[in-house]
Amino acid sequence: MGKWLYSTQILLIVCYLLLEKSRHYPVLALSMPPITKTTIHSSCNCKKVVIEIQLREHQNANGNKADNDVINCHCSFCRKYHTSGYTSFLSVGKENVSVCHGNNKIGIFLSECEELGTVERWFCTECSSKLLSMPLPHDDTKNDSRDKIKKVGEKTTTTICYVNLGPIQDDEIISPDLLTRWKKRLEREENNLHHNDGGGGGVWVKALPPAAITTSSNTYINDDIINELDENPILWTGSCACGNCAYELTIDYPTELQHCYCHLCRELSGSGFMTWIPIEKQNFRWVNKKSCSLVRTTPFGRRHICMDCQGVMTIIYDDQPDHVWPSAGGLDDSSLPTTRIDMGNYLNRVCHICCRYQPAWLKIPDDGMEKIDDAC
Ligand SMILES: [Zn+2]
Ligand SMILES: [Zn+2]
Ligand SMILES: [Zn+2]
Repeated sequence: MGKWLYSTQILLIVCYLLLEKSRHYPVLALSMPPITKTTIHSSCNCKKVVIEIQLREHQNANGNKADNDVINCHCSFCRKYHTSGYTSFLSVGKENVSVCHGNNKIGIFLSECEELGTVERWFCTECSSKLLSMPLPHDDTKNDSRDKIKKVGEKTTTTICYVNLGPIQDDEIISPDLLTRWKKRLEREENNLHHNDGGGGGVWVKALPPAAITTSSNTYINDDIINELDENPILWTGSCACGNCAYELTIDYPTELQHCYCHLCRELSGSGFMTWIPIEKQNFRWVNKKSCSLVRTTPFGRRHICMDCQGVMTIIYDDQPDHVWPSAGGLDDSSLPTTRIDMGNYLNRVCHICCRYQPAWLKIPDDGMEKIDDAC
């Protein structure tokens, strides 16, 4: 009987406390915004690793929809590691990211990012697809001479994880409204970190041939540059993020850039696109091939991939034995012209290929260059 009375007393106290709480905070209880949750997946090219991501969307104080943010990082480390012009990330709380399957196929490359500091880069060990970047807590005991990284790194917390947008497979599941918001945000200057106009970024990403000297619909010829390169060819160098694959290119004639938006390029890079440069075989030389492997990636081509950091260095097409297509993402900034206009002078063509596969969150620039549905 005493025990029963005791339980009733506790129950009454709990009820009283709950009532009190709701009396004191009725406004808070009523104004809690509804949170919409969406589950999306990211999967590598070979499909052995699948990552599940919970997105959260709610009304913010201004009545606008707020959700996970998206950013493009143009820093030199992100460009080298993803071997692309810049990479695109979705920021998600760590607790909202989980590995559905393929845990034992995830490899980690320790790297830097000028924005996020020291990061663990996750990739698929079977197919080299880039999956996400996880900032590590800043280590003050480390004697890091790169002050900028140190400073930015200090700001970062370890609760956020940056999922690569390239391999996200669920375009059809994400609401069109959300995709439009991502697309708009990715076009804003503040969502483009370390971009070219801000003093960082790749000089070639938005470089265009000198349009004033168009001679045919798609190719631009500048006789002065042709003569200059004929007399004094220039040298561009490139490498993967770890440096165990490195090459040099002799540029003795204006060349071209092909920005490709296909699924394979997006999965392997983790970014929205990869960019390829056709080079005659005699003008391409390996300086270091220590960890380089030639891997069959399509029925009609193979790619040189660094087995240490997974950097995708080239495409070799079966039907073009005389050509190598290095990925521009691997080019060393120090070997290139310093301005976009000077870079453009060495180009006779820029085109966007596999545009039919462009992700809904990415806007292909309206730069007047050809947009081709498939590969050319
Ligand atoms: Zn970065
Ligand atoms: Zn490497
Ligand atoms: Zn491609």
